[in-house]
Amino acid sequence: MAVLQIGAGGVGGVVAHKLAMNAKTFGEITLASRTKSKCEEIAKSVLQKTGIEIRCESVDADDVDALVALIERIKPKVVINVALPYQDLSIMEACLRTKTHYLDTANYEHPDTAKFEYKEQWAFHERYKEVGIFALLGSGFDPGVTNVFCAYAQKHYFDEIHSIDILDCNAGDHGYPFATNFNPEINLREVSSRGRYWENGKWIETAPMEIMQVWDYPEIGEKDSYLLYHEELESLVKNIKGLKRIRFFMTFSQNYLNHMRCLENVGMLRIDEVEHNGEKIIPIQFLKTLLPDPASLAGRTVGKTNIGCYIQGIKDGKAKTIYIYNVCDHQECFKEVSSQAISYTTGVPAMIGAKLIVEGKWSGNGVFNMEELDPDPFMEELNIQGLPWKVLEL
Ligand code: NDP
Repeated sequence: MAVLQIGAGGVGGVVAHKLAMNAKTFGEITLASRTKSKCEEIAKSVLQKTGIEIRCESVDADDVDALVALIERIKPKVVINVALPYQDLSIMEACLRTKTHYLDTANYEHPDTAKFEYKEQWAFHERYKEVGIFALLGSGFDPGVTNVFCAYAQKHYFDEIHSIDILDCNAGDHGYPFATNFNPEINLREVSSRGRYWENGKWIETAPMEIMQVWDYPEIGEKDSYLLYHEELESLVKNIKGLKRIRFFMTFSQNYLNHMRCLENVGMLRIDEVEHNGEKIIPIQFLKTLLPDPASLAGRTVGKTNIGCYIQGIKDGKAKTIYIYNVCDHQECFKEVSSQAISYTTGVPAMIGAKLIVEGKWSGNGVFNMEELDPDPFMEELNIQGLPWKVLEL
């Protein structure tokens, strides 16, 4: 048995540690990324913490032929893609050519348009089906665990789900004036985009950060939360039958929003090329170079995250409301795998998705989103692997 992980950033560090902690299931672990030295740094920590040796390789995941050669050499049961969303299609193509199962944590984005859509990945469905391989899309926390929470609520708590609010609160403090807790380019593109939610069969667009609502997060308290578009809304609208409304909220401090507005006003969030001293640069990529590396927030971030789904609907003819959620402590993550909670809450579900594929508990021919699979084995693993959850019946 072998497994191949691509990407050695903040999330990649967590996935590699967690794969090693479950080495009996995964067998030989290979970590490949653009910069091999980053893989080697992670491998060193994995060896120290778990006693497990992982192999390191360098690969350009935009190059399908290079990926095919690597996959043919390693022969993994599954490829875990925790590089950037820009690499989703090339890695999916390489998996198709080598007939290897695929998993990722974020949907494809074209570098020139900050647009989150499953269209191009869902287009692989028929070809994956024909060759009999399985692709699991969005096996992080949101998307990922939030989709599984919805499927679990549908299976065990409701006859009909009418509304879902996905709530993402990070009450962590890293002490920097401004930093993003995952890849800055991807994060700022997402947050500065127009908001969107779905109600009564249609999408409603908002200006960025136009809708604010205060939510009360268990173990954290009340926080200003802003409506964003988030990719899991697209698949949940399709897969949760009878849904009337679905929205996504994320907490931001005034400090974060002030910095972001200022950066936007001066053009630093632009994703198109500009001429600078005779060279072409993309402002948001230059900003990424200046901002703290998200992996470096580990250790200095204190506080907790609370991410969950507030779900309303009908059970046995009566109205019902639940909040199903996980609370994760930044410092506890650091102690366990030297990461902060955002990377941890993404990396653990990526490993769990891969574990269920390798064990044959989640399978299928084609391309699937998380809520299309049986939620029970995934929910069990969350409790075992470090992301315990609770259900509040309200
Ligand atoms: P980082 O920027 O920290 O890491 C990205 C990694 O991918 C780096 O190791 C980078 O290599 C590598 N990479 C980039 N381009 C290539 C390439 N062409 N070939 C090979 N490797 C490449 O990002 P994060 O770890 O913060 O995020 C990883 C993924 O997780 C992203 O897709 C992000 O959107 C997703 N995510 C999902 C969440 C969820 O809940 N579903 C939440 C948070 C993140 P190099 O070091 O050379 O740059």
